[in-house]
Amino acid sequence: MKNDNIKYQLKGLTLSELQQLFKGLGEPKYRGEQVFNWMYNHLTTDFSEMLNLSKALREKLSEKFSLQSLELITVQDSPATGTKKYLFATQDNHKIESVVIPDKDRNTLCISTQVGCPLDCKFCATGLMGYKRNLTSAEIVDQYLLAAKDYGKKNITNIVYMGMGEPLLNFDVTLKTLSIFTSELNKGLSRNRITVSTAGIPEKIKLLAESGLRVKLALSLHSCFNDIRSKLMPINKKYPVEKNIEAIKYYSKKTKTPIVFEYTMFKNINDRDEDIEALAKICNQLSCKINIIPFNSIAHMNPGGFGATLEPTPHERINEFAQSLRNKNVTVMVRKTQGDDIAAACGQLAAKNR
Ligand code: SAH
Repeated sequence: MKNDNIKYQLKGLTLSELQQLFKGLGEPKYRGEQVFNWMYNHLTTDFSEMLNLSKALREKLSEKFSLQSLELITVQDSPATGTKKYLFATQDNHKIESVVIPDKDRNTLCISTQVGCPLDCKFCATGLMGYKRNLTSAEIVDQYLLAAKDYGKKNITNIVYMGMGEPLLNFDVTLKTLSIFTSELNKGLSRNRITVSTAGIPEKIKLLAESGLRVKLALSLHSCFNDIRSKLMPINKKYPVEKNIEAIKYYSKKTKTPIVFEYTMFKNINDRDEDIEALAKICNQLSCKINIIPFNSIAHMNPGGFGATLEPTPHERINEFAQSLRNKNVTVMVRKTQGDDIAAACGQLAAKNR
């Protein structure tokens, strides 16, 4: 794979970029579609398999271009839940992780957008490992393609941008990958099966709304109160709750898509009666649902300071909290914790980068 470093990467190019590229090579535009199909539908990683291209063209392409950006290192199964965790290495030897989470009627792939994360949320293992770099579009798309090769492309029905990193801080690349996944030529996924999750970067939320991609948007809210949210998520000092609510209202209106609020529950921090009132007040202003996530311990990362004091809300209180919200006409889901036996649950992704 070393030699491929100097080759130009085709994975991660959008349909129009591929069409442009082939035009530049003096080839007809439809070659772009053919190669798109090979890479993204047939999961091909070798030009020699692209049998509807001439042998001469296949050879020329393999001299100049690469089709491989990640190497699959290990696949780990959780026998209890069927969750599968994929560990990949980038060419510069960073490790990243993706997880497939099966549910009744769907299998959701959770993908990463950065190596580490700069946001430093106090409850998140990825935050504790710090930030290394943005992933390229090839590396983001390859998490899907390589997982699909193992799991079956048809079997992966949904994608969530909830792995390592903040997708809206790698905005242009995230947009590019969304355009690939939602392309009409890409079989099996559609915009309403893709969710981008953000800690809340209002100007980027607005730009995503204007992109026309109309994917689902999840905002990691975790508290409606700025003082508490800023302690949990330092980014809140820069982008407070009200700025994010304004941005997601815009998103919801512009895309006609309901918003998901993620709400990880911490004992005595955001599970009080006044939190129910504040949440209901926000939720009654727009079309949305709340996904409650039980806090998955990150004790194995030895967090210091405020992070070390966080405890999960007991299950009984989570259920009571959810029911009180439902009584106020709010749609609430309580997410089952999946994959914590293989450190693949929310916020536990922190591949060792050696
Ligand atoms: N940067 C994006 C994606 C992050 S992970 C974002 O902030 O939305 C996806 C979700 O898992 C987020 O809502 C995040 O806040 C939550 N999460 C992170 N660590 C967690 C943990 N230890 N337990 C439960 N949820 C966690």
